[in-house]
Amino acid sequence: MTFFQCQKCKKIWQYQIKKCPECFSNLERIKSEKAKVKAISKVTIPSLFHQKVPYFVLVLEDERGNKWIQKSKREYKIGEEIKIEKVASKEVVAIWRVKYDFFEAIEKIINLIGGLKLKENSKVLILPTLEKASHPYFRNNTSPEFLEATLNFLFHLGVKPENIKVASQSFDEIEIGAKAQKSGLLEVCQKYKVLPFDLAKGNFVKKGDLEISEEAFKANFILNLPILKMGKAQASENIFYFLKKENFLAQKYLYSEKEVFEKLKKELPEFLTIAEANHIRDEKGFTHYLNLIFASFEPLNLDRIFFEITTRKLPEILSDVKMENISIAGREIEEIS
Ligand SMILES: [Zn+2]
Repeated sequence: MTFFQCQKCKKIWQYQIKKCPECFSNLERIKSEKAKVKAISKVTIPSLFHQKVPYFVLVLEDERGNKWIQKSKREYKIGEEIKIEKVASKEVVAIWRVKYDFFEAIEKIINLIGGLKLKENSKVLILPTLEKASHPYFRNNTSPEFLEATLNFLFHLGVKPENIKVASQSFDEIEIGAKAQKSGLLEVCQKYKVLPFDLAKGNFVKKGDLEISEEAFKANFILNLPILKMGKAQASENIFYFLKKENFLAQKYLYSEKEVFEKLKKELPEFLTIAEANHIRDEKGFTHYLNLIFASFEPLNLDRIFFEITTRKLPEILSDVKMENISIAGREIEEIS
């Protein structure tokens, strides 16, 4: 849990407000190291957002006496310390709840998957979802807030803005530039002096019958940064944007999405997916407040967990992905659905 402390009056806030409302000083981010159970309340009556009962609402306290609440399916004892296990496997899907602040959620979820080994001169390629020329409000594209928090997290790790590219391309008739502008992502790139890059304008390398953007092979670290949408395997499908447009259309004509995905995944260097699922769209375009983020090195597993949480029928691309083979870190499905 992260808190924000006024440097002058030392008051502590759970929200990332810009300035202390009492003395207008800047707030400093402070992190809790430990979480002890202070109080427990058992809930046995289901409600709209919490249909599985019983569950427990814990009041947790850190080493500085800051308190917050957390839902749990396990019954803890008062005084017991909560430990969140780290799982550093490539197959694992980490899930975390976004409280008020994407930065904290990203930091936490990266910690859960074992951290990132980035150097000061590491070249980072970010692939957001950028499919429609629409305002962030509609959640068609990765939100500017999520990209901004991700960039800030990378800067915090020491990555330099000039070594980061935010890349995508358009597979339809609308120009990528229009999408980048309307989505608010271009503005974030400009604000932080990070290069927005149209993959269609770069070179592609042949790998078997695939033509893959050479940017994927030039980067030291690839970050797939989709926004999830109900009923879509968005994390997995997002990497199709590494293909040359004509090649992707030909592949889609000849093979199933699952086959194209498997071929492409095999050719690409390892990449990490951090998926935004804070406010998400359903099939009809309505927004739902899920307040989650996910991370995994295996986007199929990540999408599979998302389908489990949102109880949607599996698309063909996920047909072979078995829930029992996926390990989960962070929060359990019962605690968040
Ligand atoms: Zn103050």
